[in-house]
Amino acid sequence: MIIKGNTGDWEVILGLEVHAQVHSNSKLFSGAATDFGSEPNTQVSLVDSAMPGMLPVINEVCVEQAVKTGLALNAEINLRSVFDRKNYFYPDLPQGYQISQYLYPIVGKGKIVLDMPDGTAREVGITRIHLEQDAGKSLHDQSPVNTFIDLNRAGVALMEIVSEPDMRSPNEAAEFMKKLRTIVRYVDSCDGDMEKGNMRCDANVSVRKIGDKLGTRCEIKNLNSVRNIIRAIEFEANRQVEILESGGTIRQETRLFDADKGETRTMRTKEDAHDYRYFPDPDLYPLVLTQDYVDKIKKSLPELPDEKKTRYMQQMGLSAYDASVISADKTNAEYYDVVAKGNDPKMAASWVTAELFGRLNKAGIEIDKSPVKAEQLSGLLKLISDNTISGKIAKQVFDIMFETGKDAAAIVEEQGLKQVTDTSAIEKVIDEVMAANQDKVAEYKSGKDKLFGFFVGQVMKVSGGKANPAIVNEMLKKKLS
Ligand code: MN
Repeated sequence: MIIKGNTGDWEVILGLEVHAQVHSNSKLFSGAATDFGSEPNTQVSLVDSAMPGMLPVINEVCVEQAVKTGLALNAEINLRSVFDRKNYFYPDLPQGYQISQYLYPIVGKGKIVLDMPDGTAREVGITRIHLEQDAGKSLHDQSPVNTFIDLNRAGVALMEIVSEPDMRSPNEAAEFMKKLRTIVRYVDSCDGDMEKGNMRCDANVSVRKIGDKLGTRCEIKNLNSVRNIIRAIEFEANRQVEILESGGTIRQETRLFDADKGETRTMRTKEDAHDYRYFPDPDLYPLVLTQDYVDKIKKSLPELPDEKKTRYMQQMGLSAYDASVISADKTNAEYYDVVAKGNDPKMAASWVTAELFGRLNKAGIEIDKSPVKAEQLSGLLKLISDNTISGKIAKQVFDIMFETGKDAAAIVEEQGLKQVTDTSAIEKVIDEVMAANQDKVAEYKSGKDKLFGFFVGQVMKVSGGKANPAIVNEMLKKKLS
Protein backbone atom coordinates (compact mmCIF):
# COMPACT_ATOMS: atom_id res chain seq x y z
CA MET A 1 0.00 0.00 0.00
CA ILE A 2 1.38 3.42 -0.98
CA ILE A 3 -0.02 6.45 0.81
CA LYS A 4 0.13 9.65 -1.25
CA GLY A 5 1.20 12.55 0.93
CA ASN A 6 1.85 16.22 0.19
CA THR A 7 5.57 15.59 0.54
CA GLY A 8 5.66 12.39 -1.53
CA ASP A 9 4.77 8.71 -1.43
CA TRP A 10 4.87 6.70 1.80
CA GLU A 11 5.40 2.98 2.08
CA VAL A 12 3.81 0.91 4.86
CA ILE A 13 6.00 -1.66 6.65
CA LEU A 14 4.26 -4.46 8.51
CA GLY A 15 5.28 -7.31 10.75
CA LEU A 16 2.91 -9.54 12.71
CA GLU A 17 3.11 -11.37 16.01
CA VAL A 18 0.48 -14.06 16.24
CA HIS A 19 -0.50 -15.80 19.46
CA ALA A 20 -1.88 -19.21 18.55
CA GLN A 21 -3.32 -21.43 21.26
CA VAL A 22 -1.70 -24.84 21.08
CA HIS A 23 -4.15 -27.66 20.43
CA SER A 24 -3.62 -29.79 23.55
CA ASN A 25 -5.93 -31.31 26.16
CA SER A 26 -3.86 -29.95 29.01
CA LYS A 27 -1.82 -26.85 29.79
CA LEU A 28 1.84 -26.12 29.03
CA PHE A 29 3.17 -26.90 32.52
CA SER A 30 0.23 -28.53 34.34
CA GLY A 31 -2.33 -31.28 33.84
CA ALA A 32 -5.36 -28.96 34.03
CA ALA A 33 -7.84 -29.14 31.14
CA THR A 34 -8.05 -26.54 28.39
CA ASP A 35 -11.69 -26.90 27.23
CA PHE A 36 -13.23 -23.73 25.88
CA GLY A 37 -16.25 -22.17 27.63
CA SER A 38 -16.08 -24.06 30.94
CA GLU A 39 -17.33 -22.58 34.24
CA PRO A 40 -14.81 -20.02 35.59
CA ASN A 41 -11.96 -21.43 37.69
CA THR A 42 -12.87 -25.09 37.11
CA GLN A 43 -9.71 -25.83 35.10
CA VAL A 44 -7.05 -24.55 37.46
CA SER A 45 -4.35 -26.66 39.06
CA LEU A 46 -2.20 -25.58 41.97
CA VAL A 47 0.58 -24.85 39.46
CA ASP A 48 -1.67 -22.51 37.44
CA SER A 49 -2.74 -20.62 40.56
CA ALA A 50 0.94 -20.36 41.60
CA MET A 51 0.62 -21.92 45.03
CA PRO A 52 3.92 -21.99 46.94
CA GLY A 53 6.14 -24.95 46.24
CA MET A 54 4.42 -25.99 43.02
CA LEU A 55 6.69 -26.86 40.13
CA PRO A 56 6.02 -26.67 36.39
CA VAL A 57 6.42 -29.84 34.28
CA ILE A 58 6.65 -29.48 30.50
CA ASN A 59 3.81 -31.01 28.45
CA GLU A 60 5.35 -33.05 25.62
CA VAL A 61 2.28 -32.63 23.37
CA CYS A 62 2.80 -28.86 23.33
CA VAL A 63 6.45 -29.30 22.37
CA GLU A 64 5.47 -31.61 19.53
CA GLN A 65 2.86 -29.12 18.30
CA ALA A 66 5.41 -26.29 18.20
CA VAL A 67 7.87 -28.50 16.29
CA LYS A 68 5.15 -29.53 13.82
CA THR A 69 4.21 -25.90 13.24
CA GLY A 70 7.84 -24.93 12.75
CA LEU A 71 8.39 -27.71 10.22
CA ALA A 72 5.22 -26.74 8.36
CA LEU A 73 6.64 -23.19 8.10
CA ASN A 74 9.92 -24.49 6.66
CA ALA A 75 11.67 -23.30 9.81
CA GLU A 76 14.80 -24.34 11.66
CA ILE A 77 14.02 -26.36 14.78
CA ASN A 78 16.36 -25.47 17.64
CA LEU A 79 17.37 -28.67 19.40
CA ARG A 80 18.10 -26.67 22.52
CA SER A 81 15.75 -23.97 23.75
CA VAL A 82 15.30 -22.24 27.10
CA PHE A 83 12.29 -21.13 29.13
CA ASP A 84 12.59 -17.71 30.72
CA ARG A 85 10.58 -15.75 33.21
CA LYS A 86 9.12 -12.55 31.80
CA ASN A 87 8.36 -10.49 34.88
CA TYR A 88 5.38 -8.20 35.14
CA PHE A 89 2.40 -7.66 37.39
CA TYR A 90 -1.09 -8.34 36.22
CA PRO A 91 -4.06 -9.24 38.45
CA ASP A 92 -4.80 -12.33 36.33
CA LEU A 93 -1.18 -13.52 36.33
CA PRO A 94 -0.76 -15.07 39.79
CA GLN A 95 2.89 -16.06 39.30
CA GLY A 96 3.91 -12.44 38.76
CA TYR A 97 5.74 -13.60 35.65
CA GLN A 98 4.96 -15.40 32.43
CA ILE A 99 7.04 -18.43 31.48
CA SER A 100 8.11 -17.70 27.91
CA GLN A 101 11.15 -18.13 25.69
CA TYR A 102 13.42 -15.20 24.98
CA LEU A 103 16.96 -15.66 23.66
CA TYR A 104 16.58 -19.34 22.71
CA PRO A 105 13.16 -20.06 21.15
CA ILE A 106 12.17 -23.57 20.07
CA VAL A 107 11.75 -22.55 16.41
CA GLY A 108 14.02 -20.23 14.40
CA LYS A 109 13.83 -18.72 10.94
CA GLY A 110 11.29 -19.98 8.42
CA LYS A 111 9.02 -18.74 5.67
CA ILE A 112 5.44 -18.71 4.50
CA VAL A 113 4.13 -18.25 0.97
CA LEU A 114 1.07 -16.04 0.59
CA ASP A 115 -1.37 -16.66 -2.26
CA MET A 116 -2.56 -13.17 -3.14
CA PRO A 117 -6.08 -12.75 -4.55
CA ASP A 118 -4.62 -11.49 -7.86
CA GLY A 119 -2.94 -14.88 -8.34
CA THR A 120 0.59 -13.78 -7.41
CA ALA A 121 2.61 -15.40 -4.63
CA ARG A 122 4.47 -13.47 -1.94
CA GLU A 123 7.06 -14.90 0.44
CA VAL A 124 7.18 -13.63 4.03
CA GLY A 125 9.91 -14.53 6.51
CA ILE A 126 9.16 -16.10 9.89
CA THR A 127 11.53 -14.77 12.56
CA ARG A 128 10.79 -17.31 15.27
CA ILE A 129 8.18 -19.28 17.18
CA HIS A 130 8.38 -19.57 20.93
CA LEU A 131 6.24 -21.37 23.48
CA GLU A 132 4.74 -19.46 26.39
CA GLN A 133 1.91 -19.49 28.91
CA ASP A 134 -1.32 -17.57 28.51
CA ALA A 135 -2.57 -15.42 31.42
CA GLY A 136 -5.99 -15.61 33.08
CA LYS A 137 -8.86 -13.28 32.42
CA SER A 138 -10.22 -10.31 34.38
CA LEU A 139 -14.00 -10.08 34.26
CA HIS A 140 -15.08 -6.46 34.62
CA ASP A 141 -18.72 -6.86 33.61
CA GLN A 142 -20.03 -9.22 36.31
CA SER A 143 -20.45 -6.68 39.10
CA PRO A 144 -20.69 -2.87 39.32
CA VAL A 145 -17.99 -2.66 41.97
CA ASN A 146 -15.79 -5.76 41.71
CA THR A 147 -13.55 -7.33 39.14
CA PHE A 148 -13.48 -11.12 39.09
CA ILE A 149 -10.62 -13.31 37.97
CA ASP A 150 -11.02 -16.47 35.87
CA LEU A 151 -7.86 -18.56 35.78
CA ASN A 152 -9.10 -21.22 33.33
CA ARG A 153 -6.83 -19.82 30.65
CA ALA A 154 -3.86 -19.27 32.97
CA GLY A 155 -1.07 -21.57 31.87
CA VAL A 156 -2.62 -22.61 28.55
CA ALA A 157 0.12 -23.10 25.94
CA LEU A 158 0.54 -20.45 23.27
CA MET A 159 2.82 -20.40 20.27
CA GLU A 160 3.97 -16.86 19.54
CA ILE A 161 4.68 -16.78 15.82
CA VAL A 162 6.67 -13.70 14.80
CA SER A 163 7.05 -12.57 11.20
CA GLU A 164 9.77 -10.46 9.62
CA PRO A 165 8.68 -6.91 8.67
CA ASP A 166 8.22 -8.14 5.10
CA MET A 167 4.63 -7.11 4.45
CA ARG A 168 3.72 -3.93 2.65
CA SER A 169 -0.08 -3.75 2.68
CA PRO A 170 -3.03 -4.57 4.95
CA ASN A 171 -4.11 -7.20 2.40
CA GLU A 172 -0.79 -8.99 2.72
CA ALA A 173 -1.23 -9.01 6.50
CA ALA A 174 -4.71 -10.45 6.01
CA GLU A 175 -3.42 -13.15 3.67
CA PHE A 176 -0.65 -13.93 6.16
CA MET A 177 -3.23 -14.63 8.86
CA LYS A 178 -5.34 -16.74 6.52
CA LYS A 179 -2.41 -18.81 5.31
CA LEU A 180 -1.08 -19.30 8.83
CA ARG A 181 -4.54 -20.42 9.94
CA THR A 182 -4.70 -22.87 7.03
CA ILE A 183 -1.31 -24.33 7.96
CA VAL A 184 -1.94 -24.75 11.70
CA ARG A 185 -5.25 -26.43 10.86
CA TYR A 186 -3.57 -28.80 8.42
CA VAL A 187 -1.08 -29.95 11.04
CA ASP A 188 -3.73 -29.69 13.78
CA SER A 189 -1.51 -27.65 16.11
CA CYS A 190 -4.14 -24.94 16.70
CA ASP A 191 -7.88 -24.67 15.99
CA GLY A 192 -7.25 -21.31 14.29
CA ASP A 193 -10.60 -19.95 15.40
CA MET A 194 -10.17 -16.17 15.77
CA GLU A 195 -13.71 -15.74 17.10
CA LYS A 196 -12.93 -17.93 20.07
CA GLY A 197 -9.69 -16.02 20.56
CA ASN A 198 -7.45 -19.01 19.94
CA MET A 199 -5.60 -17.03 17.30
CA ARG A 200 -4.92 -13.34 17.96
CA CYS A 201 -2.61 -10.98 16.24
CA ASP A 202 -0.51 -7.94 17.14
CA ALA A 203 0.51 -5.78 14.19
CA ASN A 204 3.71 -3.73 14.07
CA VAL A 205 3.14 -0.78 11.77
CA SER A 206 5.54 1.86 10.53
CA VAL A 207 5.79 4.08 7.47
CA ARG A 208 8.71 5.48 5.51
CA LYS A 209 9.46 7.34 2.31
CA ILE A 210 10.30 4.73 -0.30
CA GLY A 211 13.96 3.72 0.06
CA ASP A 212 14.43 5.41 3.46
CA LYS A 213 15.48 3.49 6.58
CA LEU A 214 12.77 1.96 8.77
CA GLY A 215 10.59 4.40 10.68
CA THR A 216 9.50 4.13 14.32
CA ARG A 217 6.83 1.49 14.72
CA CYS A 218 3.69 1.22 16.80
CA GLU A 219 2.28 -2.09 17.91
CA ILE A 220 -1.48 -2.60 17.70
CA LYS A 221 -2.54 -5.24 20.20
CA ASN A 222 -5.00 -8.13 20.06
CA LEU A 223 -6.61 -7.90 16.66
CA ASN A 224 -9.19 -10.66 16.60
CA SER A 225 -10.42 -10.83 13.00
CA VAL A 226 -9.01 -10.53 9.52
CA ARG A 227 -11.30 -7.58 8.88
CA ASN A 228 -10.07 -5.74 11.95
CA ILE A 229 -6.45 -6.37 10.99
CA ILE A 230 -7.08 -4.56 7.71
CA ARG A 231 -9.04 -1.72 9.30
CA ALA A 232 -6.55 -1.16 12.12
CA ILE A 233 -3.50 -1.11 9.85
CA GLU A 234 -5.13 1.25 7.37
CA PHE A 235 -6.06 3.67 10.11
CA GLU A 236 -2.69 3.46 11.84
CA ALA A 237 -0.60 3.93 8.68
CA ASN A 238 -2.59 7.01 7.70
CA ARG A 239 -2.32 8.41 11.23
CA GLN A 240 1.48 8.08 11.15
CA VAL A 241 1.74 9.73 7.72
CA GLU A 242 -0.37 12.65 8.90
CA ILE A 243 1.87 13.20 11.94
CA LEU A 244 5.08 12.97 9.92
CA GLU A 245 3.80 15.24 7.16
CA SER A 246 2.90 17.93 9.69
CA GLY A 247 6.45 17.80 11.08
CA GLY A 248 5.79 15.57 14.10
CA THR A 249 7.53 12.38 15.21
CA ILE A 250 6.14 8.92 15.94
CA ARG A 251 6.42 7.74 19.52
CA GLN A 252 7.10 4.01 19.90
CA GLU A 253 4.07 2.71 21.75
CA THR A 254 1.49 0.01 22.17
CA ARG A 255 -1.94 0.92 20.81
CA LEU A 256 -5.42 -0.53 20.99
CA PHE A 257 -7.86 -0.77 18.10
CA ASP A 258 -11.37 0.45 18.83
CA ALA A 259 -13.48 -1.59 16.42
CA ASP A 260 -16.61 0.58 16.94
CA LYS A 261 -14.84 3.83 16.10
CA GLY A 262 -12.42 2.25 13.61
CA GLU A 263 -9.41 3.96 15.18
CA THR A 264 -6.33 3.12 17.24
CA ARG A 265 -5.43 4.88 20.48
CA THR A 266 -2.54 4.84 22.93
CA MET A 267 -2.57 2.00 25.45
CA ARG A 268 0.89 2.45 26.94
CA THR A 269 4.26 3.72 25.83
CA LYS A 270 6.32 0.84 24.59
CA GLU A 271 8.34 -1.14 27.07
CA ASP A 272 11.59 -2.76 25.97
CA ALA A 273 12.66 -6.33 26.58
CA HIS A 274 15.00 -5.26 29.41
CA ASP A 275 12.03 -3.85 31.30
CA TYR A 276 10.79 -7.39 31.82
CA ARG A 277 13.97 -8.61 33.50
CA TYR A 278 13.98 -11.86 31.58
CA PHE A 279 16.01 -14.64 33.19
CA PRO A 280 16.06 -18.43 32.71
CA ASP A 281 13.37 -20.09 34.81
CA PRO A 282 15.28 -21.98 37.53
CA ASP A 283 12.41 -24.49 37.83
CA LEU A 284 12.88 -25.75 34.27
CA TYR A 285 15.80 -27.37 32.52
CA PRO A 286 16.65 -26.23 29.03
CA LEU A 287 14.49 -28.11 26.55
CA VAL A 288 16.70 -30.49 24.57
CA LEU A 289 15.38 -32.41 21.55
CA THR A 290 17.14 -35.04 19.47
CA GLN A 291 17.33 -34.79 15.70
CA ASP A 292 15.72 -38.22 15.57
CA TYR A 293 12.66 -36.89 17.44
CA VAL A 294 12.36 -33.97 15.01
CA ASP A 295 12.77 -36.26 11.98
CA LYS A 296 10.00 -38.54 13.23
CA ILE A 297 7.64 -35.59 13.55
CA LYS A 298 8.64 -34.44 10.09
CA LYS A 299 7.72 -37.82 8.63
CA SER A 300 4.32 -37.69 10.32
CA LEU A 301 3.34 -34.37 8.72
CA PRO A 302 0.36 -34.51 6.34
CA GLU A 303 0.55 -33.16 2.79
CA LEU A 304 0.70 -29.38 3.33
CA PRO A 305 -1.40 -26.81 1.46
CA ASP A 306 1.38 -25.62 -0.89
CA GLU A 307 2.27 -29.20 -1.83
CA LYS A 308 -1.36 -30.02 -2.34
CA LYS A 309 -1.94 -26.99 -4.54
CA THR A 310 1.06 -27.88 -6.70
CA ARG A 311 -0.13 -31.48 -7.04
CA TYR A 312 -3.64 -30.37 -7.99
CA MET A 313 -2.24 -28.11 -10.71
CA GLN A 314 0.53 -30.30 -12.08
CA GLN A 315 -0.87 -33.79 -11.77
CA MET A 316 -4.60 -33.16 -11.92
CA GLY A 317 -4.68 -30.18 -14.28
CA LEU A 318 -6.70 -27.83 -12.05
CA SER A 319 -6.60 -24.08 -12.60
CA ALA A 320 -4.56 -22.05 -10.08
CA TYR A 321 -7.82 -20.63 -8.76
CA ASP A 322 -9.54 -23.99 -8.16
CA ALA A 323 -6.34 -25.46 -6.70
CA SER A 324 -6.03 -22.53 -4.25
CA VAL A 325 -9.64 -22.55 -3.16
CA ILE A 326 -9.68 -26.29 -2.55
CA SER A 327 -6.29 -26.56 -0.83
CA ALA A 328 -6.91 -23.47 1.36
CA ASP A 329 -8.99 -25.54 3.74
CA LYS A 330 -8.21 -29.03 4.94
CA THR A 331 -11.86 -30.08 5.04
CA ASN A 332 -12.43 -28.79 1.48
CA ALA A 333 -9.41 -30.74 0.28
CA GLU A 334 -10.53 -33.95 1.98
CA TYR A 335 -13.98 -33.60 0.42
CA TYR A 336 -12.53 -32.89 -3.02
CA ASP A 337 -10.14 -35.84 -2.87
CA VAL A 338 -13.08 -38.21 -2.37
CA VAL A 339 -15.10 -36.65 -5.22
CA ALA A 340 -12.14 -36.66 -7.62
CA LYS A 341 -11.33 -40.32 -7.03
CA GLY A 342 -12.46 -42.23 -10.14
CA ASN A 343 -13.82 -39.07 -11.78
CA ASP A 344 -12.37 -36.44 -14.07
CA PRO A 345 -10.44 -34.19 -11.62
CA LYS A 346 -11.28 -30.96 -13.44
CA MET A 347 -14.97 -31.76 -13.62
CA ALA A 348 -14.86 -32.71 -9.91
CA ALA A 349 -13.18 -29.37 -9.09
CA SER A 350 -15.75 -27.33 -10.91
CA TRP A 351 -18.62 -29.21 -9.24
CA VAL A 352 -17.07 -28.68 -5.81
CA THR A 353 -16.08 -25.01 -6.19
CA ALA A 354 -19.06 -23.79 -8.23
CA GLU A 355 -22.05 -26.06 -7.56
CA LEU A 356 -21.36 -27.30 -4.05
CA PHE A 357 -19.75 -24.16 -2.55
CA GLY A 358 -22.41 -22.01 -4.21
CA ARG A 359 -25.22 -23.95 -2.56
CA LEU A 360 -23.43 -24.18 0.80
CA ASN A 361 -22.76 -20.42 0.86
CA LYS A 362 -26.33 -19.63 -0.02
CA ALA A 363 -27.64 -21.92 2.72
CA GLY A 364 -24.97 -20.78 5.22
CA ILE A 365 -23.81 -24.35 5.83
CA GLU A 366 -20.21 -25.43 6.52
CA ILE A 367 -18.79 -28.14 4.29
CA ASP A 368 -18.52 -30.70 7.10
CA LYS A 369 -22.31 -30.38 7.56
CA SER A 370 -23.03 -30.60 3.83
CA PRO A 371 -26.29 -32.47 3.15
CA VAL A 372 -24.54 -34.03 0.14
CA LYS A 373 -21.61 -36.18 1.24
CA ALA A 374 -18.49 -36.42 -0.90
CA GLU A 375 -19.27 -40.05 -1.87
CA GLN A 376 -22.72 -38.96 -3.03
CA LEU A 377 -21.37 -36.16 -5.23
CA SER A 378 -18.87 -38.62 -6.65
CA GLY A 379 -21.81 -40.92 -7.48
CA LEU A 380 -23.57 -38.11 -9.32
CA LEU A 381 -20.49 -37.38 -11.43
CA LYS A 382 -20.21 -41.05 -12.36
CA LEU A 383 -23.77 -40.88 -13.75
CA ILE A 384 -22.67 -38.00 -16.00
CA SER A 385 -19.53 -39.80 -17.18
CA ASP A 386 -21.35 -42.98 -18.13
CA ASN A 387 -24.03 -40.96 -19.96
CA THR A 388 -26.86 -41.98 -17.63
CA ILE A 389 -27.75 -38.28 -17.28
CA SER A 390 -26.66 -35.08 -18.99
CA GLY A 391 -24.74 -32.32 -17.21
CA LYS A 392 -27.84 -30.17 -17.28
CA ILE A 393 -30.08 -32.78 -15.65
CA ALA A 394 -27.28 -33.42 -13.14
CA LYS A 395 -27.72 -29.89 -11.78
CA GLN A 396 -31.42 -30.57 -11.16
CA VAL A 397 -30.56 -33.86 -9.49
CA PHE A 398 -27.97 -32.09 -7.34
CA ASP A 399 -30.60 -29.61 -6.16
CA ILE A 400 -32.78 -32.50 -5.00
CA MET A 401 -29.81 -34.23 -3.37
CA PHE A 402 -29.00 -31.00 -1.52
CA GLU A 403 -32.58 -30.78 -0.25
CA THR A 404 -33.21 -34.42 0.59
CA GLY A 405 -29.78 -35.96 1.17
CA LYS A 406 -30.74 -38.82 -1.18
CA ASP A 407 -28.32 -40.56 -3.54
CA ALA A 408 -28.18 -39.42 -7.16
CA ALA A 409 -29.02 -42.86 -8.60
CA ALA A 410 -32.18 -43.11 -6.48
CA ILE A 411 -33.39 -39.67 -7.60
CA VAL A 412 -32.71 -40.40 -11.28
CA GLU A 413 -34.64 -43.66 -10.97
CA GLU A 414 -37.58 -42.15 -9.05
CA GLN A 415 -38.01 -39.19 -11.34
CA GLY A 416 -37.30 -41.03 -14.59
CA LEU A 417 -34.45 -38.70 -15.50
CA LYS A 418 -32.32 -41.22 -17.35
CA GLN A 419 -30.84 -39.82 -20.51
CA VAL A 420 -32.44 -41.12 -23.70
CA THR A 421 -29.81 -42.67 -25.94
CA ASP A 422 -32.29 -44.87 -27.77
CA THR A 423 -32.09 -43.55 -31.34
CA SER A 424 -35.62 -44.61 -32.32
CA ALA A 425 -37.09 -42.69 -29.38
CA ILE A 426 -35.05 -39.61 -30.31
CA GLU A 427 -36.00 -39.98 -33.96
CA LYS A 428 -39.65 -39.91 -32.96
CA VAL A 429 -39.19 -36.62 -31.13
CA ILE A 430 -37.28 -35.12 -34.08
CA ASP A 431 -40.09 -36.09 -36.48
CA GLU A 432 -42.61 -34.51 -34.14
CA VAL A 433 -40.63 -31.25 -33.95
CA MET A 434 -40.12 -31.13 -37.71
CA ALA A 435 -43.81 -31.73 -38.36
CA ALA A 436 -44.81 -28.92 -36.01
CA ASN A 437 -42.34 -26.49 -37.62
CA GLN A 438 -42.54 -27.13 -41.33
CA ASP A 439 -42.01 -23.45 -42.18
CA LYS A 440 -38.70 -23.45 -40.29
CA VAL A 441 -37.63 -26.70 -41.93
CA ALA A 442 -38.15 -25.05 -45.30
CA GLU A 443 -36.18 -21.97 -44.27
CA TYR A 444 -33.34 -24.13 -42.99
CA LYS A 445 -33.21 -26.08 -46.19
CA SER A 446 -33.09 -22.88 -48.20
CA GLY A 447 -29.89 -21.93 -46.40
CA LYS A 448 -30.79 -20.44 -43.03
CA ASP A 449 -28.20 -22.55 -41.14
CA LYS A 450 -28.66 -20.63 -37.94
CA LEU A 451 -31.97 -22.39 -37.34
CA PHE A 452 -30.11 -25.58 -36.43
CA GLY A 453 -29.83 -24.40 -32.83
CA PHE A 454 -33.57 -23.83 -32.74
CA PHE A 455 -34.24 -27.47 -33.68
CA VAL A 456 -31.78 -28.78 -31.09
CA GLY A 457 -33.48 -26.63 -28.48
CA GLN A 458 -36.94 -27.87 -29.43
CA VAL A 459 -35.94 -31.53 -29.38
CA MET A 460 -34.29 -31.15 -25.98
CA LYS A 461 -37.36 -29.34 -24.69
CA VAL A 462 -39.83 -31.96 -25.92
CA SER A 463 -37.66 -34.73 -24.45
CA GLY A 464 -37.63 -32.97 -21.08
CA GLY A 465 -33.89 -32.39 -21.32
CA LYS A 466 -33.28 -36.12 -21.30
CA ALA A 467 -32.22 -36.72 -24.90
CA ASN A 468 -28.49 -37.27 -25.32
CA PRO A 469 -27.30 -34.02 -26.95
CA ALA A 470 -24.61 -35.66 -29.09
CA ILE A 471 -27.09 -38.11 -30.61
CA VAL A 472 -29.66 -35.34 -31.13
CA ASN A 473 -27.11 -33.28 -33.06
CA GLU A 474 -26.02 -36.13 -35.22
CA MET A 475 -29.54 -37.28 -36.09
CA LEU A 476 -30.87 -33.79 -36.71
CA LYS A 477 -28.12 -33.13 -39.20
CA LYS A 478 -29.08 -36.25 -41.14
CA LYS A 479 -32.80 -35.55 -41.01
CA LEU A 480 -32.53 -31.92 -42.08
CA SER A 481 -30.10 -32.42 -44.93
MN1 MN B 1 3.63 -13.22 23.78
